[in-house]
Amino acid sequence: MERSFAGSGACAVCGGASEVGDVKSPLTRASDTSLARSALTWVAFTATLLVIGFTPAVLAQNVCVTPSAEVETVLIVRRSASVESPALGRLLPSAQAKILGEVPHWYLVATADGKTGYTSKNWARLTTCATAGLAGGAYEMHAIDVGTGLSLFVRGDDFTLLYDAGSNDDTAGGAKNRVVAYLAETFPGLRRIDHLILSHPHRDHLELMADVFTNYEVGEVWDSGATYDSCIYRDFIRAVSQEPGVRYHTALRHMGISTAQYEAKCRAEAESLALRHGARIDTNPVPLGDGASMQFVYVDGSKRSDVNDNSLVLRMDLGGRSALLAGDAGGGPRKVPSVPPSLKSIEATLVACCQKELKADVLVVGHHGSMTSSRAAFLDAVGAYHFIVSSGPYKYSGTSLPDKEVIAELDRRGDVWRTDLDDDACAKASSKVGLDNDEKPGGCHNVVMRFTGAGVSASYVPALLNVSSGASD
Ligand SMILES: [Zn+2]
Ligand SMILES: [Zn+2]
Repeated sequence: MERSFAGSGACAVCGGASEVGDVKSPLTRASDTSLARSALTWVAFTATLLVIGFTPAVLAQNVCVTPSAEVETVLIVRRSASVESPALGRLLPSAQAKILGEVPHWYLVATADGKTGYTSKNWARLTTCATAGLAGGAYEMHAIDVGTGLSLFVRGDDFTLLYDAGSNDDTAGGAKNRVVAYLAETFPGLRRIDHLILSHPHRDHLELMADVFTNYEVGEVWDSGATYDSCIYRDFIRAVSQEPGVRYHTALRHMGISTAQYEAKCRAEAESLALRHGARIDTNPVPLGDGASMQFVYVDGSKRSDVNDNSLVLRMDLGGRSALLAGDAGGGPRKVPSVPPSLKSIEATLVACCQKELKADVLVVGHHGSMTSSRAAFLDAVGAYHFIVSSGPYKYSGTSLPDKEVIAELDRRGDVWRTDLDDDACAKASSKVGLDNDEKPGGCHNVVMRFTGAGVSASYVPALLNVSSGASD
């Protein structure tokens, strides 16, 4: 079956009634020790920020609470600073709420949906608001120039999301990982990725992902679940397994714990990795934050001979605007866009089933602008007028992408934003947001797409880090 969807069972990440029954009361495990520790943490945190020049007023604008690692389901926001006060709202483990003030044992917070209430300090953890500086109702999508691959960072006022982190020509690790380097430079206050999505496990979508776990907290992980035999996929599964509080969503399993067994291979001993599952991936919208949601419009966790056919195609609704992220979803063998998509391809399946879900302002073009994707029938259904093409110098089976025929088709339909342009412009950059590991230029044409009530706009952001203006060999 080309398109296998999970059933519409209770969705643990969607909020609502299914979670009310197993809410852990914030104060049922309170102790004098933890209260004292919480108070000390706040004092130390405040003192630290005062030392580096923040006033409490400024601090309150940029400090958020998020449920601590001990919170299994939700953190309750109450009307007043008492455990007996009625619940006003609930924060999922991936959510944040801005701190407005504090009283003994409680933070006064503002939730993403505009409610003001109190959360227990025992069950809350302080964090820098991931989206400080972004006005409410505005959203950004960053296509990070990873060379030959894909990585998209999306943020709203109260959430962060990363769709893929891969490269075929950048294997640097640690802080020189190109995704980590970009995020660290662009969002120095960022501590947490609320949602991390792996479209499919090819290296050009996955290579840089394990380091994301090393450098950031990760909340929810979304993966089709189709197993893949590679060392980097094993690294990814190990990172998911070792991430505290993470929930792993696949199309194959709903909740519970599974174990991935690996033999001695990939420079690692034999190991057994436990995975804590969240709700099975289905096609229902998943709330992200205020005015924002995501929806998996194509999900297939079955074993496919080509894992491009497992690509999780994601629709994002961002304050009345929308984007469609196609991963490496295909339309068939390499053909010019005017040829209809092959009958069983993802593009044909979606055109047949899901016209409404496909309509979007922005399309992150499938398979790096290859002629295996972007058939006219599919582009017609999407109707986008901004196109992001992420590509680089590495050849796929001897072919550099994007294909000029696809670019010409996209050009007729709207504005095309490419990460592979002027790749030598950043060749002397001091970090991996510039120079490739193989000494060939990979460029630093990051694309930023902005979604507001006024519309969608885009720009290139080449001037990151200490890049000399116009530097090139
Ligand atoms: Zn790819
Ligand atoms: Zn692929």
